Amino acid sequence: MNEFNVNPGNHHKAKRIVVEPPHAEPTASGWYSTSGPELNLVPQNGDVSCDCLVIGGGWMGLHAARRYAELNPDTSVMLVDAGRIGNNASGRCMGFVIDLAHNPRKKDFVEDIKGNNEELYVNLDGIAYIRSAVEEHRVDCDWDPQGKYHSAATAHGVRDLRRFSEALDVLGQRYSWVEREEIQAFTGSRHYIKALHHPGTILLQPAKYMKSATKSLPANVTVHENTPITAVQFGIPKHVCETPTGTIRASKVIICASGYLTKFGFFENYAIPLYTFASMTRQLTEQELSQVGSKGAYGLIPANSFGTTVRRTIDNRLFLRNVYSYATDFKTTKQDVLKARVQQQIAFDRRWPELSSIGFEASWGGLLTLAQNGGMVFGELDHNVYGAAFCNGTGVARGAAFGKAVAELAAGKSSPVIDILKTRASPSKPYPKPVTAMGVRMVTAYRFRQAGAEV
Ligand SMILES: Cc1cc2nc3c(=O)[nH]c(=O)nc-3n(C[C@H](O)[C@H](O)[C@H](O)COP(=O)(O)OP(=O)(O)OC[C@H]3O[C@@H](n4cnc5c(N)ncnc54)[C@H](O)[C@@H]3O)c2cc1C
Repeated sequence: MNEFNVNPGNHHKAKRIVVEPPHAEPTASGWYSTSGPELNLVPQNGDVSCDCLVIGGGWMGLHAARRYAELNPDTSVMLVDAGRIGNNASGRCMGFVIDLAHNPRKKDFVEDIKGNNEELYVNLDGIAYIRSAVEEHRVDCDWDPQGKYHSAATAHGVRDLRRFSEALDVLGQRYSWVEREEIQAFTGSRHYIKALHHPGTILLQPAKYMKSATKSLPANVTVHENTPITAVQFGIPKHVCETPTGTIRASKVIICASGYLTKFGFFENYAIPLYTFASMTRQLTEQELSQVGSKGAYGLIPANSFGTTVRRTIDNRLFLRNVYSYATDFKTTKQDVLKARVQQQIAFDRRWPELSSIGFEASWGGLLTLAQNGGMVFGELDHNVYGAAFCNGTGVARGAAFGKAVAELAAGKSSPVIDILKTRASPSKPYPKPVTAMGVRMVTAYRFRQAGAEV
C-alpha cells in the first residue's frame, strides 16, 4: 500500500463532486488532421453500468483500459474521453517513445544509478506494451525504432551531451557520437555541431497510434468519445459518474485524466499546468527535400531541455517543438499558440534558412502537468478508485507503463513496475497559484534565454 491508498469510508464517499471538464484546444493538431478517418462516435446515453470505468483516453487511459480488459475478459470495461482520442496531449505530442530521458537539470542525474535504472525499467515495460499493440494487434502508427539523436548546436550543448554520455556509461547503455559533418549531412542543416545517438527510443505518429489502438481494444471495452464526466459520487456498491447525456455506474473507476485528475477531488490544486507547443510544415517537395539532408525520417532531442525538438516525419514534413508556458486554469489561447509559432519559425530559420518561406501548415499546443517536487500520482486513491497522473514531459512510454500498471493494481495483481511506482514521491502542494504562476513564468523565460541557439 502506498500513501495514496485511502481506506474505504474516507471523505469522498457519498459526496457528489462536480468535475470541471477539459477546455477545448484553440487550434487543430497537424498529427490529428493527417491521421486518417475519424473514429466512429458511439454516444453515451442513459443510465448504464459497467465493472470498470476508465476516464481519459491518452497514453495512460488507453493502456489502462486495454490491460484491465485483457486481465478480466469476462467483465465490462468502459473508456470515456471528454474529447476525441488522438486529439489530446497524447496525440499532440512529438511521438518520441523514450526509454531514458536526458535530464541535465537534475543535479544528481549521472550519480542516480538506482533512479535511472528504475526509470528505464518502467519505460521499457511501457515500450514493450506499445510494441505488442503494433506487432500483435497491427496498430498502425508509422512505427520507427531508429532511436533518438541528442543534438547540440553550442559548446554548452556539447557539455550537456558529455554529461549524458557519462550517465549512459554508468548504466552500461550503448550509444554513439555523431560528428559535425554527419549530422549536418543527414539534417541538411549547418546549425548542429555534434550529436549523440541513443538507440532505445521509438518514433511514431501519436494520433494514428491512439486511434488505431482504440479500434483494437479487447471486445469487452466500450469507448465513448466526446463524453466528459461532469460529476462523480464515489461510493459502494457502485460509483456514480455523470455525463451530459446520462449516468455511468461502475464498481471500479480508474482516473487517467492527466492534470484533470485534480478536478475529481484528489490532489486538488496540486497540479502545475504547463503548455508546450509545436508547428508542422506541409509535405516538402522533391526540390525542398534535397535541401534537408539525406536521412529521411529522424528525431532530434535538444541537448538543452529548453531547446527545440525536431522531427522529420515519414511523410516528409518538418516538425518543431519549443516554448513552455504556465497555463492559467489549464487553458491556452490561440494567441499563445501564435506566439509560440513565432519561436518555432525562428528555430526553423536557424536550421533551414533557405526554406524559411515555407511556413507552417499547423501549430498547436498540449497540456503537461508537473508537481512542484516532480512527484507523480499512482495508486488507489479511494476505495476502488484508482488513478495515475503527472508523468511530466516524457509521458508516452511512462504513460503506457503507468496505465498498464494502475490497471493491474485495480485487478489485484502485483508487478515489479507497481513496486517501483509505489515508492515514487507523491506530488507536493505548490505555492499559492499567483506565486507559482509568476515563478514558472520567470524560470521558463530565463531557461529559454539561457538555452540560446539550442532553441
Ligand atoms: C507538444 C507536446 C510534445 C510532447 N512530446 C512528447 C514526446 O515526444 N514524448 C513523450 O514521452 N512525451 C511527450 N509529451 C508529453 C506527453 O504528451 C504527455 O505526458 C502524455 O500525453 C500524457 O498522457 P496522459 O494519458 O496522462 O494524458 P492526456 O493525453 O492529457 O489524456 C488525458 C485525457 O483525459 C481526458 N479527460 C480529462 N478530464 C476528463 C473528464 N472530466 N471526463 C472525461 N475525460 C477527461 C482528456 O480529454 C484527455 O484526453 C509532449 C507533450 C506535448 C504537449
